[in-house]
Parts: sequence; C-alpha cells; structure tokens
Amino acid sequence: MRAAHRPLLTALAVAATAVAGTVTAAVDTTPAHAAGCTGYVGLTFDDGPSNAQTPALLNALRQNGLRATMFNEGRYAAAYPAQVRAEAAAGMWIGNHSYTHPHLTQQSQAQIDSEVSRTQQAIAAAGGGTPKLFRPPYGETNATLQAVEAKYGLTQIVWDVDSQDWNGASTDAIVQAVSRLANGQLILMHEWPANTLAAIPRIPQTLAGKGLCAGRISPQTGRAVAP
Ligand SMILES: [Zn+2]
Repeated sequence: MRAAHRPLLTALAVAATAVAGTVTAAVDTTPAHAAGCTGYVGLTFDDGPSNAQTPALLNALRQNGLRATMFNEGRYAAAYPAQVRAEAAAGMWIGNHSYTHPHLTQQSQAQIDSEVSRTQQAIAAAGGGTPKLFRPPYGETNATLQAVEAKYGLTQIVWDVDSQDWNGASTDAIVQAVSRLANGQLILMHEWPANTLAAIPRIPQTLAGKGLCAGRISPQTGRAVAP
C-alpha cells in the first residue's frame, strides 16, 4: 500500500529549527553546479529500494549530478540488499521509512519499535550504514513514535514541499514543485512514479536558477545542508 502520503504535519520536524544558517558556498566541488550554490535543498525518494525502479533512479540522479536521501522500507532493504549498496555507492544518503509502511500512529509502542529497529538492522546489514533519519509513513507521527525515534537516535524528517508524485502529478507539476523549494527545505518524492524519473533531468537547472543545489539532510537540524 503505497498511496496517500497525505501532507499532514508538513515541516513539523523542521519548523522549529528553521533559523537561517550561514551558507558556505562553493565548499563542495563534486556536483556540476557546486560553484553556483548559495543554498541547498533535500531531494527525498521514499518507498524503495527495488530491483524494478532503483537502478534507473540512481542512473538518472548520477547523470544529472544529483545526490538525494532515500527513505527505504526495511522489508525492501532486506529483500534487495544489493540495491541498498548501490544507493550508497551512488552517493545517496539512506534513511529509515519503517519496515512495512503501516500507519504507525495506530500501533503500540512495541509494534513501532519493531518497525523501526528491524529497518535499522536491515539497512545496516545490507551495507547502507545505520540510519540517522526517520520518515514516518504518511507523515503521521505522535509522542509514542517520537519516543521510539529518540531511542534509536533518529531525527524525524517530514517535508516542506509535497511533489504529489504519489497522487499522479505530471512531470511538469513535479518540476514546478521543485521550483518552490527554498534554502534548507525538503521535497517529498517517491522512487516508483514514472513522472518522477522523467522530472529528474530538469531538476538541476530548476534549482540552479535560484542558486540552489541538492544537499544532504542534517540529522542535527533536519534541514538541507551542503553534502
Ligand atoms: Zn512512503
């Protein structure tokens, strides 16, 4: 069940820390547009990995000089460990998106703990490192989930802009959503929609028009920063 990522609690995790930091431009020299970076945004892709979608997504990101955060489901990390390694090898950051993508706010603390901890283990066992970021399915959270996140040293990450790719957004609409990002902000995307894959070649130019580049998500602040 991958539909209906409702934009609840948008930016909940990050709003409190939205203090504009000083931007250290031109420190990173890896991406093609590094010299023009006056700020960073976080591209995020949820619900992978898979043999069907991950290779093409990684190829598109690499070819366009983009790095992103992949919020993996534990069940898929366990099933497709080579794709987790491929994500890491392609320079992506890997976060925890629960094991089976349930509505965690309807679960007991023990169930939530299992969803979180099994995913930490699956990603680490696959070679993706131990995640420091957690994205709750559907953006749904509560105090019980936040206590479990804290137990595992995870920073909760929601999003500032919802691309609506899960809801049938066109490629143009996804690019438009990218164009709304400001320094430090994060956009929700998924690894499975074809329109998302088609939008990727247009992302660098869209960001460059605003002096922005793709960055990593800081576990300290939940904001996008230089890679
Ligand atoms: Zn999801």
